[in-house]
Amino acid sequence: MLNRDSMPLSSPRADDWLAHCADSITDPAELCRLLRLGPELAQAAEQPAAEYPMLVPRAYAQRIQRADPDDPLLRQVLPRPEELAPAPGFSADPLGEAAAGSCPRLLRKYYGRSLILATSACAVHCRFCFRRHLLRAANYRAEGDAASLLAEALDRLAADNSVAEVILSGGDPLFLSDAQLAELLARMESIPHVRRLRIHSRMPIVVPQRITGELMELLQGTRLRTIVVVHVNHPAEIDGAVERAIGRFVDAGIPVLSQTVLLRGVNDNIEALGELYELLADLRVGVYYLHQLDRVAGAAHFEVPIQVGIKLVAELRNRLPGYAVPRYVREIPGATSKQLLA
Ligand code: SF4
Repeated sequence: MLNRDSMPLSSPRADDWLAHCADSITDPAELCRLLRLGPELAQAAEQPAAEYPMLVPRAYAQRIQRADPDDPLLRQVLPRPEELAPAPGFSADPLGEAAAGSCPRLLRKYYGRSLILATSACAVHCRFCFRRHLLRAANYRAEGDAASLLAEALDRLAADNSVAEVILSGGDPLFLSDAQLAELLARMESIPHVRRLRIHSRMPIVVPQRITGELMELLQGTRLRTIVVVHVNHPAEIDGAVERAIGRFVDAGIPVLSQTVLLRGVNDNIEALGELYELLADLRVGVYYLHQLDRVAGAAHFEVPIQVGIKLVAELRNRLPGYAVPRYVREIPGATSKQLLA
């Protein structure tokens, strides 16, 4: 793993994840100052940050190499002027999700599974996020409406007995409080045909303090078979706290899978991907998907040609055991499954 300098940052109590989130860095000038980067990067970030605000937890910032404007973690979170450049083929809703929802918080993309947009909030704002525009759009509305929108989604779920698995997504579902999660779980448990719960989250990576004993009790106490899918893109994102957070799930018998987005300047090289998948195998994480970037407006500079991705996966296959090689996929709006690229 890369050797990161420690950074003189304030440190909320280790187990107080809400304090960690509240203490996040929102000002590009502060981030650049802490990372010993020139003020020109902060100035260049101002306009794109006005479009889609910057949000970086300090626990994540500590893993960014100082004085390196090309750091792969920094590239994922610092707004850049390229985000404002128009790019043909890139749109605000690349997966057509606004039209796929039977109600604002419920998506039915694939047979037998439904996806609940549990919250519009995240602990980090990934610059390449395919929901970066939807997260601010009217159908997510203010969090004040969340309770009634979620109730509507759950009513629809209860009325559709073809759904065996619910995927909690967002935003980040682990950004919900334990009380909110408990309420959501109780409601899903009361629907007899729902058997499995899948939680898609970046929290174990960006704010590993979120994986508390209370959260584990909640997840271990549900009758729903629970799977956690962590979004992780680079080996330097995995430090000791992340290892412990993932270990808590695995030790509790909750399977953990990984998903990664192939990103130019972040992980589009065999060294980064090879080390990432070695580490995930060490952590007993089931390697799941390597995603081709969804073509969201503002993220064109992150796109890696598919032919490059196919070669990278072929090289991973030469180096790693089969169980540590991801399925390289892309999502096509309206398709009944993801398209396998390699
Ligand atoms: S954590 Fe996930 S939903 Fe939130 S900004 Fe990042 S990619 Fe998007």
